Amino acid sequence: MFELDETLSAVETAVRGFCEREVEPHIAAIESGDASGFDVLRRFAVGFGLGEALGAPMRARASRLRTGGPARAVPSPETVDGRGSANPGIATVVAKELARSSPGLALCLLSNLGAAATIGARGDADLIERCALPLVTLEKIGCWALTEPGSGSDAFAMKTSARLDGETIVLNGSKTFISNAPAADVLLIYARLEDPGGDRADKQRIFPIVVERGTAGLSTGAPMRKLGMHATPTGEVFLQDCRVPRSHLLGDPARPARELAEQTLVAERVMVVAMCLGVIERCLDDALGFAIARRQFGKPIAAFQLIQQKLARMYVARENVRNLMLKGIWLQREGKGSEREVSAAKWYATEAAADVALEAMQLMGGSGYMQEYAPERLFRDIKLWTIAAGSSEIQTLTIAKDLLRARGFSIDLAGGYRADGE
Ligand SMILES: Cc1cc2nc3c(=O)[nH]c(=O)nc-3n(C[C@H](O)[C@H](O)[C@H](O)COP(=O)(O)OP(=O)(O)OC[C@H]3O[C@@H](n4cnc5c(N)ncnc54)[C@H](O)[C@@H]3O)c2cc1C
Repeated sequence: MFELDETLSAVETAVRGFCEREVEPHIAAIESGDASGFDVLRRFAVGFGLGEALGAPMRARASRLRTGGPARAVPSPETVDGRGSANPGIATVVAKELARSSPGLALCLLSNLGAAATIGARGDADLIERCALPLVTLEKIGCWALTEPGSGSDAFAMKTSARLDGETIVLNGSKTFISNAPAADVLLIYARLEDPGGDRADKQRIFPIVVERGTAGLSTGAPMRKLGMHATPTGEVFLQDCRVPRSHLLGDPARPARELAEQTLVAERVMVVAMCLGVIERCLDDALGFAIARRQFGKPIAAFQLIQQKLARMYVARENVRNLMLKGIWLQREGKGSEREVSAAKWYATEAAADVALEAMQLMGGSGYMQEYAPERLFRDIKLWTIAAGSSEIQTLTIAKDLLRARGFSIDLAGGYRADGE
């Protein structure tokens, strides 16, 4: 449990080699917008056979749907290995190694695979073939859109609405801060399904709905300017009487569907822990090399105990986050794990990764402030994860909520509480 198995070690070595050869030389151009991160990821998808590895169970499901067989939901991409059997670690290790070079590229891939997973598991055969499979190979770009201008942490208070109208669904609303949106061909939009006789603010009737580029009423904004994650464009999505076939609504309109969004968020948080580990490992490696090479006061700075302390602190963070990632893989494999555990891991790993990247910058002095060295970019990129996919504050509240519930004390994220017997 405390180390990668043989398959995952081989994946780690192979992806690191790819990143050193095919990613690192292009990072500066991707960061400045002179090269496309999507092109690099397409080469990655071909090189590692992602279409086969992650697409096989989706293709099998599509074929069962066409022949009228039982349409079991497929495992999400992060749980499938090249043979189509469960290996929860593969996508996790890929995310770690990509993030070691570029968390922005890892975010691009995560956004594509997140949309593909939901469509692959819930869509009909047409949607799987037209949307999910090309997302896995990056022939199409996808995004996953939950956040709105008025609802971020309180994501399920969203206003974007979906109305059933015969065999179509009509969408109205807007989304913001959506990764990949400016370039997306396939947009997975979360919307509240209107229930004419029901509660308009019902937080359970949230459904993912597939909208393809070119659909009348859909538009996206220009890429937003931001601190980091420059390899992934971020933007707004606008829906004005945007009409899609009813089959694009994933899930059963008669049943509450909020858990579909929650499952994707949990899967995303596991991947985020892996990305944090990639950043921490890279910062520690670079800091070690720098500390030995850089001389001040007549000796390598590695000889100074304050520098040694920084290296030791980075190593402790690496050990803790590595154990959290390995435990995450094990929990997925065993089908165990609570939201509290995932929240604890996400909160700790993201804060630790941002701290370690800053510590590596400090250790490198003026060089650490320069773009020539990786830590300043890794810091700007990884800082996102203390905010997105549930901020550190929201993870903290989720943990406390679970701990207190076990003692008969219920809290909600809006500050409300109820105690047994009160
Ligand atoms: C680069 C980038 C990429 C993104 N990609 C995507 C994407 O692909 N898809 C998507 O759907 N979203 C995406 N997001 C959105 C992201 O998930 C949200 O920004 C995040 O959930 C926080 O929401 P908010 O920005 O509205 O902040 P708010 O919710 O307004 O929070 C503001 C502050 O208040 C704190 N806060 C909120 N509620 C509480 C509370 N109850 N108690 C204590 N503190 C609280 C927060 O922690 C935060 O510090 C992305 C964001 C960024 C910046």
